[in-house]
This record gives sequence, C-alpha cells and structure tokens, in this order.
Amino acid sequence: MRRGLHMKLVLIMVLLIVSLMTVVGAFLMNSVTGYYINDFYGQMADAFGADNADFLQDLQVPTEGESDGVAMLDEVLSAYVGVLGVDGRNRNYYVLDGVTGRYLAGSAEEPEGGLEITPNISAALLGQVGLESDAAASYMDAAVPIHRGDQAYVIYILDNRATVRSLNGEMFTLILEALALGLVISVLLSFLLSKTMVTPLQRLTDGLQEVAAGDFSKKLEVTSRDEIGQLTESFNSMAQRLHDTIAAVENERNKLDTLFLHMADGVVAFDREGKVIHSNPAASRMLRRAFGPEDSYGELFGDLFPLEQVEGVDGHLSAERQVAGRSLELLLAPFARGDQGGVLVLIHDVTEQRAAEQMRKDFVANVSHELRTPLTNIRSYAETLEEGLGDMPPEVAKNFLGVILNESDRMTHIVQDLLTLSRFDSGRSELHLTRFPFAKAVSDTYQAVLMDAQRHAHTIRLEVPRGLPDILADQERVMQVMMNIVANAIKYTPDGGTIVLRAGTVGDRVWMEVDDNGIGIPKADRGRIFERFYRVDKARSRQSGGTGLGLSIAKEIVDLHQGAIYLVDKREPGLTIRVELPVNGPDQEGRRT
Ligand code: ADP
Repeated sequence: MRRGLHMKLVLIMVLLIVSLMTVVGAFLMNSVTGYYINDFYGQMADAFGADNADFLQDLQVPTEGESDGVAMLDEVLSAYVGVLGVDGRNRNYYVLDGVTGRYLAGSAEEPEGGLEITPNISAALLGQVGLESDAAASYMDAAVPIHRGDQAYVIYILDNRATVRSLNGEMFTLILEALALGLVISVLLSFLLSKTMVTPLQRLTDGLQEVAAGDFSKKLEVTSRDEIGQLTESFNSMAQRLHDTIAAVENERNKLDTLFLHMADGVVAFDREGKVIHSNPAASRMLRRAFGPEDSYGELFGDLFPLEQVEGVDGHLSAERQVAGRSLELLLAPFARGDQGGVLVLIHDVTEQRAAEQMRKDFVANVSHELRTPLTNIRSYAETLEEGLGDMPPEVAKNFLGVILNESDRMTHIVQDLLTLSRFDSGRSELHLTRFPFAKAVSDTYQAVLMDAQRHAHTIRLEVPRGLPDILADQERVMQVMMNIVANAIKYTPDGGTIVLRAGTVGDRVWMEVDDNGIGIPKADRGRIFERFYRVDKARSRQSGGTGLGLSIAKEIVDLHQGAIYLVDKREPGLTIRVELPVNGPDQEGRRT
C-alpha cells in the first residue's frame, strides 16, 4: 500500500508542477510577445503621430536645393533611430519608392530577393498608414506613406522579432529549470507526505489486519490529533468494543455449553440442510446413540415430521417416542430463521410422568370398581329382600341383612383407607412423635393377633431379643403398620401355618419382620404389592375383607418416618416382609407435617 500511495502522491505532485509550469509558461510567453508587439506599434504610432510633428516635418518637407530626397530621408531617419527603436540588426528602417515599393535606402542592405510586400506596405502604397499587426507573422512592420516634394516614398520599419524570440527562448529555459527544480521538490515533498500520512496509515492497516486475524488486544499509539489520529482512536475503540462484544458472546456460549452439557433434557440441533451441528450427552443417553455431523435429521426424526415442516412452523411441534422402554417427549422447533437457522429437537423423558398419569387413571378406575362391587351386592340383596318380604324365612332374611351390613362395612373401610391415603398425598397427615419401647410395640401386635391366628390353627411365634431401644415415632401408626403385615400373614397363609414375628437393630435403625409359610407372592408381582389396589388374587383378598390399600398405607407411614418396607428374599414357601425405622425419628428437614 505504501508504494501505491507514494507513487500516486509523486504522480499528483509531478502532474501539478508540470501543468502549473505549462500554464504559467504559456501565459508568460504570450504576455511577453503581446507586450513586445504592442510596444512596437505604440512606438510607431507615437513616432509617426501628430505629436511628433518635427519628425514628420523633417520627413516631408524637403530642404532647400535638395537634390537627393532619398539620401535626405535616410539622414533624417538615421537621426531618429532612437525614437524608432532601430538598432540596425533586428529592427531596420527602409525608404521605399512610394509607387512601386522598391527599396531605395535603409539602415540595412536590401535583403536578398527584395523586401516582401507585406499588407502594411501595400496599404502605404495606396496612401494609408500601415500599422496592422499580424500575430501569426514572424515579423512586425509599419509602413508610412510620405510625400516629400513631389516624390512619394514609403517609410518602412521592419522588426524580425528576434528579440522577443530570444527572450521567449530564455524564458522557456528558465521555466524548464524551474520545472526540474519543482519536480525535485515535489518528490521530496511526497516523501515527506508519505512519512506523515502513509506511515500512520500503514500502521493502521497492519493493526486492522491483526484484528481481522482475530487479535483484538491490539492497541495503536495515537501520534497526532489530525484525521489520521482520529481514525486511529476510532480504530482503537472499535477494537476494544469488538473485544468486549466477542468476550460477552463467548461467555454466553460457554454458559449455554455448560447448560447443554449438564441439563437433564436432551438437545439435538440441526442446520438448514438437516446435518447435526450440536448435541448434548443427555440426548445420546436418552436416544441410546452417539451423534456426529454425518447424522441427518431425516434419519433421526424424519419419520415424525419432514424437516421443511418443522422449519416453517410457528412455535413448535411435539411428538412422543418409545426408546428402550422409556417414553420420550420430543419438541421440535425452528431457530433463527434464514440462512443461519436450523431446527432444534428437545428430548424430555416423561416415563415417570406417564406412569403417574396411568396410575392416576388406574386408581380412579379401581376406586369406582371397588365401590361398585359392594354397592351391587347391597342393591341385589336389598331387592331380593324387598321382593320376598313376607314369604322369606326369617333366618334367610337375617342372612341377607348380614351380607348387606358386611358389604356396607367394607365400603366404609375402603372409604376410610382412601381418606387416609388422600391425607398422605396432600401432606396433611401429621406424625405424633413419642418415644416408646419398640420391643413392646412388637409384642403388643403379637398379643392382638394371637386369638385370630389360633382360630386359623396357625403357630405364631415371637422372636424379640432383649435390649431393643426405645424409638421416636408415631406409636399408633407404627402399630397400624405392624398389625397390617401380621394380619396379611394370617390371611394369606392356609390354616395350620407358621408365622414368626422377629425384631432387631441394625445401625441406628430397628427392624421388625413377619415371616410366614403361606401362599407367598409370585416373582412378577413382588415389585407391585405396595401399589394402591394391587392384589395378587383379587377374589381371595376381597373374600378376606381386603381392600388392596393396606400395604400402600403402610408404605406411606414408613416413608413418613424415613424408614423402609420391603420383601425379604427367601427360598422356602411363604413371604417375609421387613420394616425398618430410624431409632431417633425422621430428620427434622425431612419430616412432613
Ligand atoms: P389387602 O387388603 O388385599 O390385603 P394389602 O395392600 O394389604 O391388601 O396387600 C396387597 C396384596 O399383597 C394382597 O392382596 C395379597 O395378594 C398380597 N399379600 C400381602 N401379604 C401377603 C402375604 N403375607 N402372603 C401372600 N400374599 C400377600
């Protein structure tokens, strides 16, 4: 750039000097020539004018006894060479014959080939003063007709313009010299200009190139207060602003990257052509595959919506997909429309949500079903009673009424259990914590069911070691859990079975387990018996007055205490359920009130 600008400066200077000198030279030379011509004709007009009467008289009036008029004229004219500016070299006077224009005498010999009859001579031969100038001619002349006595002459002054030519020549040389000097000065000046202008511009250009290459820390020194200084300052503030903006953008990007990396939802971004441009670990985890730039939208989500449809949508499109037993909700939305845009796919794992929804639906269906069965029974027995009233033996009617009472008791039971559960769900259930001996709670439970167990010819044993600690818990609720488990053991063990109640401690927790050798639970159902209304054998449970809610209520109570309730693996037939409770009650923060 330096050379380019420098050459331009030199060229401009040279052109300037040359054109200036040409104009000045032409003007000067023209003026000098014009002045010289004007001066000549002015001098002639003065010399032959009326003001110079002596000269005219000397020319026109012959002296007495004059024999040779021509010699006299020559004499007079040579006396007036000063007035006429005649020098005998470049300017001469001639005396010509007034009729023919022939050379008679003069300050110089007649030129070879005779004098040229110029328009001025022609005019003088016709009796007029010839003072016409011809700028194009290479000479200046003036011809004046003179009558001396009876003779007619023409006084002819001829200037060959050699003086003005040599003057112009000298001026031309001078101008050429000035031009040469001007050119030298212009080159020097352009060097100076180049130093003061081009060098800072070059520094600015270098700085800009560095900024363009990504180095925004570059700061240029401001060396002047002129436009270049202002430009440098503007450049510095622009670089600073760019630096700040890029830092802010990078910060945002880092934030987004971190967010993408750690967010639980999966994100996959595609460019306008449908190529993967971004994906996070959650997306790979959920869709069970890795992503690379070679993967395309069409192959991944093309079956849901075509790319063009997602690109043109206002808002987002949603779909659901099952991957490896998980329900994934997919939200597809376009981002930054235009060339830079693309499509973003957000993947949200809704397995738990869907399961909860399903559970809610099942729960409502179960409640309706569980309440409808006893209601149907009550209604049919009541109708039969009504129809047969009078003819029915009293013991049959009593039996019918007994069924009706039983069924309404069962309904009350179900409704009560549902209310208990709903209190747990809404967090309105409070624990009344007291410290009480755990061993006593277990043996009280044993005492309470002893009669019932004996009625079913079960052998029931209590195996509680000494020294079990007192625990902080809601005694009534803990007893409710224990009773429920033992009652189940009695219910689901065929008569004559064996039931063992054990207790112990592990760490800062106490445990109690109920072991029976009854019908047990098939493997497939083991994970579900704490679900609401879940029963392995509905008929049997209902027959024994079960609601299918007992174990779910037990689990809620144990969870409130931050304990655990689970099935213990065993080889023998039957079932073992264990309950664990913290000795010192639930943590303060974790305690629900
Ligand atoms: P239910 O009121 O029907 O007894 P629970 O919630 O107490 O309801 O128990 C759920 C289901 O778990 C029961 O219906 C039964 O199928 C099964 N179950 C519970 N305890 C036992 C056990 N000791 N032996 C075999 N099955 C059991």
